[in-house]
Amino acid sequence: MPDVFADLVGQDDAVATLRRAAEAAAAVLRHAAADRTPALVPAGVDGTATAGTDGTGRAGGAPDPGAGMTHAWIFTGPPGSGRSVAARAFAAALQCAHGTGCGECPGCHTTMAGTHADVRLVVPEGLSIGVGEMRALVLRAASTPSGGRWQVVVIEDADRLTEAAGNALLKAIEEPPPRTVFLLCAPSTHPDDVSVTIRSRCRVVPLRQPPATAVAEVLIRRDGVAPDVAQWAAAAAQGHVGRARRLARDPEARARREAVLAVPRRLTGVGAAFDAASALIEAAEAEAEASVAEADATERAALETALGAGGTGRGAAGAIRGAAGQLKDLEKRQKSRATRAQRDALDRALVDLAGFYRDALTMALRAPVAPVHTDTAAMAEAGAQKWDAEGALRRLEAVLECRAAIEANVKPRIAVEAMMLALWRG
Ligand SMILES: [Zn+2]
Repeated sequence: MPDVFADLVGQDDAVATLRRAAEAAAAVLRHAAADRTPALVPAGVDGTATAGTDGTGRAGGAPDPGAGMTHAWIFTGPPGSGRSVAARAFAAALQCAHGTGCGECPGCHTTMAGTHADVRLVVPEGLSIGVGEMRALVLRAASTPSGGRWQVVVIEDADRLTEAAGNALLKAIEEPPPRTVFLLCAPSTHPDDVSVTIRSRCRVVPLRQPPATAVAEVLIRRDGVAPDVAQWAAAAAQGHVGRARRLARDPEARARREAVLAVPRRLTGVGAAFDAASALIEAAEAEAEASVAEADATERAALETALGAGGTGRGAAGAIRGAAGQLKDLEKRQKSRATRAQRDALDRALVDLAGFYRDALTMALRAPVAPVHTDTAAMAEAGAQKWDAEGALRRLEAVLECRAAIEANVKPRIAVEAMMLALWRG
């Protein structure tokens, strides 16, 4: 039976750190349980080793049992490297009855399934995590863990905290309740991602982009994907585990990728460039819509039921006024989630496109590296001959500039149109 760290692909150093920390955390709990018995004698005051009378043999100057553990952690790494996978696995190891993340006990199971009472997962749906959400979370995180181990708060995309939410979190991290652990996930520890003060209070676990062979291995072992498909998907996803899994299993994801990779040969003029921009934006919108539509409908139905839609009794008029406000709130949140889903979909397309021009560049340079997109390698080779290394590099830069512009809040359509024109002109 694989333990909770099994899906953390190609991250041996990080896993070793987390295993040590989980052991240390378990030692802290054992130590605390032992402390409840009044028989424990304090370590020798005169500095000499006093053999523990509590039977543990602990002596003065013995290392602190919690030395490998701390209250706040930041998991960093490129998208798809498994930041949130690592944070969840560590949360499970903290809740594990054996203190190891065995993958079999109820603590491990419920944490991995997202149902453990003492593990709170914050996944921002909009573009940022607000202060209200953070305050409520910090408050609940301060309560005594019901399972007797730890209160764990996992914050995915901690780089999307608003400044006020960051401050609320900082206060909790500065004076953590004794049994609360904060696990933050962010692309990097750059001040744009995580404030310097939060960073200074956290231990950092850096994750790297996993090699394609490691990604392929997990697709074969865990998802039962055929080896040739797994290898193709792992290369095409450029180290992004979730993306590789989708490409291997979802025909629509494959079709979208193919449409994106058809862009370079369609750029035959200004009109074609604008058409390609529209197609790319619309494809991202459609993909995003499909991904959030079901959740939107479910939420709306649940809220309408909770508000007693169609009620006519006393106070119904007041209730309807209140209901309108709540529905408006919900729509606002859903709109923000849709915006984020669109940006994510567009970014995935741009990463695919960048991979194509990178292939053309490495071919023009005759660099001995495997192509990202094996299925468009012939087209990339043709591009390499036509554009030379410089032309391929200019095009690659145009794609990367488009990503940066969207990240900096330039309207996606404007950024993508500028990119398509640059790709066409070379
Ligand atoms: Zn376990």
